[in-house]
Amino acid sequence: MWLAVVLGFIFLPTIDNDNTTLGKTVEKWNSEINTIFTDINARFSSTGVINQNSVSSSKDSSSDETPIETNVQGKTLSNTYYYHYDKNVSQAVKDQFNQAVKIYNRTGIVKLVKGDGTAEQNQIEFSVYQKTMETSALQNSIELGHGGPAIIQRTGWGAYTANHAIASLNIKYANSIKLSVAVHELGHALGLDHSKDIQSVMYPTDQGRTTLTNADINGLKAIYAKS
Ligand SMILES: [Zn+2]
Repeated sequence: MWLAVVLGFIFLPTIDNDNTTLGKTVEKWNSEINTIFTDINARFSSTGVINQNSVSSSKDSSSDETPIETNVQGKTLSNTYYYHYDKNVSQAVKDQFNQAVKIYNRTGIVKLVKGDGTAEQNQIEFSVYQKTMETSALQNSIELGHGGPAIIQRTGWGAYTANHAIASLNIKYANSIKLSVAVHELGHALGLDHSKDIQSVMYPTDQGRTTLTNADINGLKAIYAKS
């Protein structure tokens, strides 16, 4: 017990590469492209600027642990999330996200509860958007959805760290309304990054997978085991 406490204390600063101490860190949401080899993976900051980090920056290729989104690494997050739906979300989309919530709750690692959280609590908003793919560069490619964590950290008096995440489906295309896409985007919201393992629900292109692999579960454990 004593050893675990000491190790935890030493470990945290060495992997905390985020110099944000107050306010929102940069949000990055991954976009899904439905082709086999193309992953555009545009990442948007909160101001809408696209930066060029590609999925290949993922460090883990051993596939025993699905990579973790960089803005979640080293953060101590509660494993409880409050989720709600944006107002224009159809029942068909809600059905997919509700199923995805059950899949993650079944792990026992995270606990997703319907409702609105406070600012200090973790929240997920499920939403939809409509984005038409341009025919030139993205022919035969469809962005199915996007999702990701947004870490809010307050230091000093009343200090807290919370994740106010989003998971969203691109309803411009009917084949985005699928459980596998909902599971993938919710995975991003909870802090999982893309995996090179084609079995993983976090593989960058949709393979129709809805079962978390051991590596996916290990990734979640790495984020939430502290809470
Ligand atoms: Zn993704």
